[in-house]
Amino acid sequence: LTILLIGSGGREHALAWKLSQSPACGRLLVAPGNPGTAAHGTNVPDLAVADPPGVVAFCRREGVGFVVVGPEAPLVAGLVDALDQAGIPAFGPSAAAARLEGSKGFTKELCAACDIPTAAFARFRETGPALAYLRARGAPIVVKADGLAAGKGVVVAETLAEAEAAVQGLLGGDLGAAGAEVVIEEYLAGEEASFFALCDGTHAVAFGTAQDHKRVHDGDRGPNTGGMGAYSPAPVLTPALEEEVMARIIRPTLDGMRARGTPFRGILYAGLMLTAEGPKLIEYNVRFGDPECQVLMPRLASDLVPLLLAASRGDLAGALAGGAPDWSAEAALTVVMAAPGYPGPVAKGSEIRGLAEAEAAGALVFQAGTRREGDRLLADGGRVLAVTARGPSVRAAQARAYAALDRIDWPEGFCRRDIGWRAVERETA
Ligand code: ATP
Repeated sequence: LTILLIGSGGREHALAWKLSQSPACGRLLVAPGNPGTAAHGTNVPDLAVADPPGVVAFCRREGVGFVVVGPEAPLVAGLVDALDQAGIPAFGPSAAAARLEGSKGFTKELCAACDIPTAAFARFRETGPALAYLRARGAPIVVKADGLAAGKGVVVAETLAEAEAAVQGLLGGDLGAAGAEVVIEEYLAGEEASFFALCDGTHAVAFGTAQDHKRVHDGDRGPNTGGMGAYSPAPVLTPALEEEVMARIIRPTLDGMRARGTPFRGILYAGLMLTAEGPKLIEYNVRFGDPECQVLMPRLASDLVPLLLAASRGDLAGALAGGAPDWSAEAALTVVMAAPGYPGPVAKGSEIRGLAEAEAAGALVFQAGTRREGDRLLADGGRVLAVTARGPSVRAAQARAYAALDRIDWPEGFCRRDIGWRAVERETA
């Protein structure tokens, strides 16, 4: 089977690493790919992945038998729809089903209709009524752009003034079309965790849990990023809570989407708040997280390819007849190394050495924003590396990940030194 993987981040390096281990994977193509994915397949840097007809033509030319889409943008743009129409099997939701990530308002309405626990909310397109609602509700309160904003569309406002400024900014066009509508929602207090489900349109199977660190600095301080590190499993999600999430959040979502004629196939990634009243949905993503994928793949013992193929075909039940996916009992933890300036504008071009030494110390080094120049590896983006290790506890995985990371010779790069602190505290309590 020739597989085409779409994307170029650390998530796709982890997917390429896992897919290439499958006996079912004959040839792996990665578009555009990065220097890390090149170790597991053939990069196709020039394929325009935002152009569905171009991807279809490429698949026909290269005899691609299965496409796995990593990031959300091509999903929201309808890449899987175009591949389906062309008869090319693809893993990921249709554009209509990807609205679960692409429109926060859509997801909130689905929650309301299907009785899925989430924060109370209202949607607005006009500043006046939005401000009146804010004043009636008071702070703390949360203001969100409806559309995709790469993590920049959410303001958790401690004060009314902050919330008002957020509404005025978004409806005033700060984020363009993504903010033409805002969702204002109740502030939820609790611990956050991520829950993944592999879905085939009708059935879902739990596919791992994780917790991540969004803030750039130690102690969860500083501006938000795409994620500075993560670990799996999330110790806070007990088996009983996982069952509750499947029953009250994931399955009603699949039923609701199917009833609307837009069945969800792919990875449903639920961002949860574990409140005093139980787990509540904060948001959906319609693909693996980055860097969560870098801790899920190293823990998955089962072959990934048959699972993804079955989900895309609507036959997860068949694939699971022999048993649920097999996960390592070990914890995995990943630490992101970023370029100076991240999450703002970054300096590119500094040289990175010592990846082999880090891997010899027992870690997997997944690459994201890197570029090869001759035999030199250079930083070429914000998040550059994700150093992942496994261990019998989060603490052990953490120690191993940092020991490996310290063998990487990249003086310009930086990382947080406290990834996993919450889980480590829980383990030692
Ligand atoms: P992401 O980058 O995670 O995809 P996003 O822009 O899609 O982010 P959300 O995940 O909806 O936005 O919100 C971002 C963060 O804001 C959450 O991880 C959470 O910490 C916080 N948050 C969102 N909604 C609430 C809420 N109702 N109550 C408290 N905190 C919230």
